[in-house]
Formats: sequence, C-alpha cells, structure tokens
Amino acid sequence: MIKVAINGYGTIGKRVADAVAAQPDMEVIGVSKTSVSAEAYIAKERGYPLYIADLSKKPAFEKAGIEVAGDVDAMLKAADIIVDATPGGVGEKNRPIYEKLGKKAIFQGGEDHEVAGFSFNAHANYNEAAGKQFARVVSCNSTGLVRVIHALDQAFGVARVRAVMVRRGADPDDVKRGPIDAIVLNPATIPSHHGPDVRTVLPQIDIVTLAMIVPTTFMHMHTIQMDLKKETTREEVLKIFEDHSRIGLVRKATGIKSNAQLREYTQDLGRPRTDLWENGVFEESVSILNGKEFYCFQAIHQEADVIPENIDCIRALMGTVKDPEESIRMTNEALGLVAIG
Ligand code: NAD
Repeated sequence: MIKVAINGYGTIGKRVADAVAAQPDMEVIGVSKTSVSAEAYIAKERGYPLYIADLSKKPAFEKAGIEVAGDVDAMLKAADIIVDATPGGVGEKNRPIYEKLGKKAIFQGGEDHEVAGFSFNAHANYNEAAGKQFARVVSCNSTGLVRVIHALDQAFGVARVRAVMVRRGADPDDVKRGPIDAIVLNPATIPSHHGPDVRTVLPQIDIVTLAMIVPTTFMHMHTIQMDLKKETTREEVLKIFEDHSRIGLVRKATGIKSNAQLREYTQDLGRPRTDLWENGVFEESVSILNGKEFYCFQAIHQEADVIPENIDCIRALMGTVKDPEESIRMTNEALGLVAIG
C-alpha cells in the first residue's frame, strides 16, 4: 500500500483523500488543516488522521471534539508521497520541506510549472513521471484542454488550437468572493495563461486561449476550435471521444445545454459531491467544418477533473504501475467513473 499524505484538506484535498481511500493500492495516512472548520469535521467523520501545522492550536481542535494526530512534520515523515493541495503559492513554500525530507510530492495547478519542473496528465505523459521526485497536476481548465487536444492530436495531428474559457466566478462554498454580477475579462490581454499551461504538457501544440469569468459556481465552459492536420468526419471524432475513458459526451437526447442541468444530472447519477471527473463534451456541438476544422463546447467541473489525474500521478511517480492505461483503469474503476454518455 502506498502511504499518501494530503497536505491541505480543502476543495481539492478532501476529494483526493476520498479518491485515495477508494483505491486498492494506496491509503490515506493523514490530512492537514490549519484551523477548525467544517472540513475538519469531515476528516474526523471519514476517519482520516488529522495533523496541524501549529500545535498551539491543538486545544481549539480538541475543544471542538476533533482529535489531532500530531504536527504536519510527523505526517510528512510517515508518508511515501505527499499530495500538496494547499492554496496556490503555498506549495512553492512547502517544496524545500519535501526536498529536505527526500519525499515525493505532487503539486496542483495553482503553482507554477517550475515548482515541479514536470507537469502531468495521465493520458499524455504518464511514463515521463518515472524516477521523478516532483510533479504538478495542471489546473482544471488545462486538464480539460489537454484531454481533448491530446486525443485528437494522436488521431489526426493538431495544427493549431484556439479556445475561449468561460470560467466560474468561485467554488460553491467560496462565499467571500461573492455576490458578483459582472463578466470579467481574465485577463483583458490575450492570450490567457491557459495556453502556455497546456504547453507544459503538450509543448508541440500551437495554442492561443482567451478567458473571462462569469457569475456561476459550478463548472467552466470552453469553446474550442482546432485545425487538424488530416481530414476527418464528425462521426470519427465522436468515436474517439466515446472510446476515451475521461471524455464524456453530453448526449443531445438529454436536453442538457447548461452547466446547471449538467450538475443536476451528475447529482441524479449519485456522483459523490456531484463530481464530474471527465470532460463534459456537448455531443451536438461537436463539428467538423471544411474537413479539418474541429469545434466543440465542453463543460469542466473545476473541483473534480483533476482528482483522477492526482491518483494516476501518485502511481506514476511511485513507479508501482508502469502502464498508464492500467492505472487509469484502476483509478476509474475505484471511483466508479464510467464516462457519462
Ligand atoms: P482550498 O482553499 O479549498 O483548500 C486549501 C486547503 O489548504 C485548506 O483546507 C486550508 O486549510 C489549507 N491550507 C491553507 N494554508 C495552508 C498552509 N499554509 N499549509 C497547509 N495547508 C494550508 O483550495 P483548493 O481550491 O483546494 O486549491 C488547492 C490547489 O488546487 C490550488 O493550487 C488550486 O489552484 C488548485 N486547484 C483548484 C481548483 C478549484 O477549482 N478549487 C481546481 C484545480 C486546481
């Protein structure tokens, strides 16, 4: 069993912890929190040993009925690998600690590529993780882009990508960012950071991205256009997406045309926390014009799509499963990820 510590038990960390606990080959040896919160109660409820950075806060946790297993240092020392899910920028500060302890670690998309020097996506570059100490799972938007671009690049070659990201304003629980009533250019300059981030995984791709933020909390919506190198048909592209275990097709017959309806659908499917782990590509939007021009809309659940990637990244860095497809299959099976559509 791979001993996994999750440093930072928030939106991403709590999902990674549950996903690790569901795998047959890894276990959660601890999670960390900085202060007493609803998530600390959830860690207790799940039975995850809870560690804190500042032991002077231990009485506050105990007063709230939450047992503290020790300080974060002790948790890190007991781990084979650390998933750092602290807020963006904190991971960079944690890196020297992991280095000193000689521990493998996975950072999230809020950190720069340089924090690990290697950015990860299971379908695109699993085998390149072998022997590395650090990896970074690219952000939710970049993960969603990499999945579709890589799939079509493998099949037809991608000459160039132009994409617009309509981004959620905040995560559902992030009340301090709202209420909001605006469409904010993110940034007003072009390109946005997403294209360069995709190139940390797929350096050969010519990609320009634009982004804006809108007042919604569940899911980003992408408009993607790619020029392919070979001519193809809509049917061939749909077949590639159907066969991809982390691209889901939102079927026309469902009548779903928004993030709100898609969220209701994942809720009705009984997904934990309504998580959509795969890309939600709208079947109706998938188009091939003039033989080589690809277009689609896809929904990306910001809290969820990076979770299976973190799990595969653990195996890739630990070197315990050599075949990416085998790891992806194990992860999907343990999560219950049968691509929608
Ligand atoms: P979050 O604020 O929900 O959770 C962060 C957790 O880290 C909190 O539980 C907090 O208690 C803990 N924490 C805060 N400061 C800490 C410190 N100094 N040391 C240890 N723990 C600390 O953040 P999040 O949304 O889960 O984001 C985590 C990372 O994942 C970021 O890099 C972010 O960019 C990335 N990410 C977030 C999303 C998203 O939509 N939320 C999607 C993809 C990637």
